[in-house]
Formats: sequence, structure tokens, C-alpha cells
Amino acid sequence: MRSQGVPEIKALFLPFPAHGHMLPALDIAKLFTSHGVNCAIVTTPLNAPIFTKSIQRTQHLGDKITLKIVKFPAVEAGLPQDCENAEKVTSEEMSLKFVKAAAMLQDPFEKILRDVQPQCLVADMFFPWASHVAAKFGIRRLSFLGTSFFSLCAGECLRLYKPQVQVSSDSEPFEIPGLPDTVEVTRKQIPYAIRSGEESEINKWMESCVEDELKSYGVLVNSFYELEPTYADYFRNVLKRRAWHIGPVSLCNREKEEKARRGKETAVAAHECLTWLDSKDPNSVVYVCFGSMSHFDASQLREIAVALEASGKQFIWVVRKSRDGDENEDWLPSGFEKRMKNRGLIVRGWAPQVLILEHKAIGAFVTHCGWNSTLEGISSGVPLVTWPLFAEQFLNEKLVTQVLRIGVSVGAKEYARFGGETVKSERIEEAINRVMEGEEAEKIRSKAKAFGDLAKKAVERGGSSYNDLKALIEELRYYQT
Ligand code: UDP
Repeated sequence: MRSQGVPEIKALFLPFPAHGHMLPALDIAKLFTSHGVNCAIVTTPLNAPIFTKSIQRTQHLGDKITLKIVKFPAVEAGLPQDCENAEKVTSEEMSLKFVKAAAMLQDPFEKILRDVQPQCLVADMFFPWASHVAAKFGIRRLSFLGTSFFSLCAGECLRLYKPQVQVSSDSEPFEIPGLPDTVEVTRKQIPYAIRSGEESEINKWMESCVEDELKSYGVLVNSFYELEPTYADYFRNVLKRRAWHIGPVSLCNREKEEKARRGKETAVAAHECLTWLDSKDPNSVVYVCFGSMSHFDASQLREIAVALEASGKQFIWVVRKSRDGDENEDWLPSGFEKRMKNRGLIVRGWAPQVLILEHKAIGAFVTHCGWNSTLEGISSGVPLVTWPLFAEQFLNEKLVTQVLRIGVSVGAKEYARFGGETVKSERIEEAINRVMEGEEAEKIRSKAKAFGDLAKKAVERGGSSYNDLKALIEELRYYQT
């Protein structure tokens, strides 16, 4: 017992092994500890450093998070031995093997459950047995779906009403039925697992994840009420899901060092980035980053370089090498780096994103609309240039450009995680200029800034996300009395 009458609770976290899932899961664990909950996180050997780097810091603060390591069955699933994180996945075929490997963790996971004996399990939706296992152990499973209320609602309406199977081609736009706003997408812009009515392996896997997830105790949503109240209400009242909005969870990292340590080792020292940004005017730098999993080919990278140069704007551009050890730089136009010497910083690898985004010099964020990045941009009050590539990112783009109106689209038409459509430099340049200068840009900037302020308020004591999390923890405690 923590103190008289306050039962101690332990939560076990099971994040999917991808940065976009592990980082918010760790942030949520930190938030749980700040409300007095002891946490353990299940991860694999090669992913462990991502957590330890940050946990060491948290433990200094007196909080309690431990790690439980399980072997990732990469080889057993037909993957290379070191493929323990979705960032190593380079094709759709590997994607399927990767989710299957994660699903094979059930037995070692049950051993850990027996050992830790938590009162609550926070599990990612990509483990199709998590609610079943929680029920077997008599504990509550909270699911973490890692996206906005908007995309949760849109995804559920696509699953329920299947408008995508009624159109005659992959590029024919259709409306998502049932949503409070009119939102149109095409089949090429929604997840493979729900694209067609036909049974496929990926489609069966997704159905099993959803079926299990629907049996969970409720959903933790990394969002805040003031951002998307209509959709938060729709999710709860119309789709009848129990949910707690507890975000933006990245804001739990308050100190500079905590922010700089978030994720992988950075390819550029955080202080170097900040010193460079300090020398720039407010709102004058475009930050370009496409998350942890996308792979652009040389021709697409060249289009981005041409757009950045033509825009005349200063920039930080995060470029992921398409393969480890690939030093080939033929994607840069000749003389580009020399010409951009004082205007741009290219980060080849991992960037300290949340630190960069909150710097006052950042004027826009060119993003792939991964939900973490999108929400980090929103929390920093930064206008967005949207360039979705896969997963539910095209839905997040609709939220940003059509509902919130804090961004401009480059006009991507289809999935391109492993290559695909090339977006031309003119479209990228135009979108950058539209959010950086002129009357439209001013309107977008002031709206984005207002959402940034609301985001920060939501997580402060007494804010909507703070209160929802507190209510959840009290509810979990209530069951232990
Ligand atoms: N991230 C980062 N530095 C990078 C790339 C990504 O800190 O160079 C972080 C980013 O802040 C976000 C996460 O990695 O928290 C990526 O998650 P997101 O949902 O945006 O995209 P995904 O990687 O899942 O496609």
C-alpha cells in the first residue's frame, strides 16, 4: 500500500516495437508514474536502449519504471535476426512477417504477467490476444491505438460501413459515411487491411486485432478534448467506446535533456541544432521530417531538395538513409550543400524532434502525418505541410487540413512508405510557401498557435487531459480497494 487507504497499482505496458508506438507508450508510463502507479514495460533486446536512455532520467526523478525483456522471434517469422523494430521493415511482405513475429510473443509475455502480477495491462492494438490474456489473468486491458479521435472514428466507420468496396476504382473518391464532417478519401489512401472486402492474410490479422481490442476495458487516446471535441464525443457517444484522452503525452517530457533523450541517439547534437536555430528569426525555419519508418528513393529526395532551395526558406531536413550503411549521396542536386551552407541543416539520421519543434524559429513542419509527429507539431503551435505516406496518415491529414485548418497538403494521392508516387518539387514548394507567407499563412499560424496553447493547458493540473488521466487512475485504484 502507498499510504493508508490508497492501494498500490502496477501497470504492465506492451508497446508494439516501432518508435511511433514505443515513444508514446513510454510517455504514458511516465504519466502513470506521476500519478503514483508503478510501471513495467515489455520490450526486446535491441529496443531496450530506447527506453533505458530515458528511464534512467525518470528514475532520477524518483519515479518507478522497470523493463522486462523478451526475445523477438524475428528469425522464426522469416525476418533478418536484427529486425526487431518496424524501422527495419522495407517491404509489405516484411510488414506481414513483422506483425506475425510480434503476435508470437504471447507465451513469453504470459510468463512476465505471472511474474509482475500487474492490476492493469496497457497493450498496443497490434497484439491480437492482449484482451484475451488480460481476461485470463483477471486484469483490465487498456488499449493504446496511437492515433487521433478523428482517425479512430473514421477508421471505425470505414470498417462498419465499408464504402470502399462500393467504388469502382482505387482512385475514385468516396465519402466516409456517418462522420460529423464530410470527408472524402480514395481506396489508395486507406490501410491495406481494410481496402477490399476480400479475405487476405493481412485483412484476417487486422480483424483479429480489432475483435480482441473491442473486448478491452477502454482506449487511451493520445489527444486532448479541445482539439477535436466533436470526434471525442462521437467516439464515446455514437461509437460507444470507453475512452480517456490523456495527451499530448510527449509534453510529459519537461526538461531539455529529457526531450533530447527521447528516442534513438541523435545524429546531430541537440545543442548544435538549438544553437543553429537560436541564430534564426522567429517562424523562419521549415522543419522537414517523415517519422521513423518511411523510405524515400533518390528521385523523391531530389524533388524535396529542389523544393527547399526554390522556396528560399531556411530549413532543417531530416533524411533517413534508405539502408543502414548506405553512404550514397547521389540524391542531392550538385552543389546543394555548398549553396545551402547558411540556409539549411541536413540531419542524416535521428533528430531531437520535440526540441526542434518547440523552438521559436520553427515556422512550419513538413510531416508525413504520423500521429505522434502531427500532435507534436500541434503542441508546438506550428503550421503543418501535410504529406501522408501510409497507415492512417491520410485520415490525420484530413483532420489537419479540413477540420482544424492548420495545414496545407502537398497533394499526395497514395501510399508511398516503400516508394510509390513521386511528389513534384513545385507542389512541395507551393505548400511550403502557402504556410510560410501571406494572409492565408497568418490565419493558419494564429490558429495553430491557439491549439498549441490549448494543448499545454490540457496537460497541466486541472486541464482536460490531466483530469481524464486522474479519473482513470482513480477508477483503477477503486477496483483494488
Ligand atoms: N522522431 C524523432 N526524431 C526523428 C524521427 C522521429 O524524435 O528523427 C520521433 C517523433 O518525435 C515521433 C516519433 O518519432 O514521436 C515518430 O512517430 P510518428 O507517429 O510521427 O511516425 P512513425 O515513425 O510511426 O511513422
